[in-house]
Amino acid sequence: MSGIEQMIDGQFMKPPTKYPPKRTDIKHLSDKEMRLILWKNQGRKCGNPYCSTDELRKEDVHLDNRIPKKRGGPDDITHRIGLCGNCNARRGVKAWGRFLDEERSKMPHLD
Ligand SMILES: [Zn+2]
Repeated sequence: MSGIEQMIDGQFMKPPTKYPPKRTDIKHLSDKEMRLILWKNQGRKCGNPYCSTDELRKEDVHLDNRIPKKRGGPDDITHRIGLCGNCNARRGVKAWGRFLDEERSKMPHLD
């Protein structure tokens, strides 16, 4: 026996898959479908909880990646946020956590 395939109990073991394995349990959605789902899930608001925009039209939802695509962020809906145009522009390529920290620090403090 040679190579990466090995016989174990009469079964061929598949060569190790590349990490991370591609998720097959998430249906591929078009951008339009994703915008609509995120918009509904977010209560028809911007995905930034500190955003001052009260109402966001579904046509105006910007699809953002929690981990920027440039840094290898996945594209499926669990890693997406629907933002208004202003938040999307302010966020730029910042990490999502850092963006939220900055947004929070701009809020009036209650204590
Ligand atoms: Zn916003």
